[in-house]
Amino acid sequence: MRFSDILGQERPLEILRRATRAGRVAHAYLFQGPGGVGKRRAADAFAAALLCDDPAGEEACGSCASCVRFGAGTHPDLHVLEIPEGKSRIPIDRFHAIEAELQLASHGGRQRVAIVDPADALSFDAQHAFLKTLEEPGAGTVFILVTARPSALVGTILSRCQSVGFGPIPDAPLRRALAARADIDPKQVDLLAGIARGSLGRALALGKAGALPDRDALFEVEGAAQSGVLGPALAWAEGVRGTEEGRARALAVLDLLLLKAHDVMVLASGGLESDLAHRDRVRAMQDEARVPGAADRAARAFTRILRAQQDIRRNVTPALALQGLFADLAGPEGRPGRNAGGAVARREA
Ligand SMILES: [Zn+2]
Repeated sequence: MRFSDILGQERPLEILRRATRAGRVAHAYLFQGPGGVGKRRAADAFAAALLCDDPAGEEACGSCASCVRFGAGTHPDLHVLEIPEGKSRIPIDRFHAIEAELQLASHGGRQRVAIVDPADALSFDAQHAFLKTLEEPGAGTVFILVTARPSALVGTILSRCQSVGFGPIPDAPLRRALAARADIDPKQVDLLAGIARGSLGRALALGKAGALPDRDALFEVEGAAQSGVLGPALAWAEGVRGTEEGRARALAVLDLLLLKAHDVMVLASGGLESDLAHRDRVRAMQDEARVPGAADRAARAFTRILRAQQDIRRNVTPALALQGLFADLAGPEGRPGRNAGGAVARREA
């Protein structure tokens, strides 16, 4: 992995290149920005450059013994802390295991790098243990924390890391990258690029989960639910399986609904059509945005959709999470022109 393989992140990459070039590398970095824009790839490229035996200026050379091991995923001085299979957080014992490895002397006598991705998945205990490690810097370890949700980290961790901000990938390189993928239908490139809003990860997830063909049916049943006709939405949700693929599909379609809620908020507040994700559906969304109270309703839907995504990540069956969402959207708070007490929203509490 090289910096030059990363799309449209000139500013953050320049910070990292400059640090590598000058040999002035901070003890801990926080790579923050939206999901799917290249933060983890940048962390890998930075780690490779730091560990390389013969860095060509600021990039890893790609051919030394260190780079070969890095490429094979067997570099002894690269430590990666991720969410274990089947869990939703990084438990403290995982953190302690890495900490113990870091206490040992560096294998190559050079730098060690620890990547935590996503750092917001560190449990509360693990964050506090991590904070201690940050306070007592062991010589030669560079920590790279990757997150799309820095607000989920304790403030003292944030203040001890050098922040490197990543933004959405600009439209042109995003389209080029999608067009170059064999696993993306060329006919979907424009639509995916529009919907993904600068996130290659999101575009690929939507493309691979086959979420786009779902979209029209999804919007139809969601629209019906919002006018109080819940049957089709419940039946549609029933069809989403509880497998790993089903989960990915549910998360992807919920992303589509999130973006639709966002679009309606944009339109209802007089925003520009060019800011929309579902640009090809502008007419239908304009109709929705014209109903009194549309912006508030869309904002509530947005929050509720986020909760459904969270539920699925916490292992709630996708069909159940989707049905609960549709039921709430069909309830008094979800429906246009009503503003009653919210019996449905309370029901789950
Ligand atoms: Zn190298």
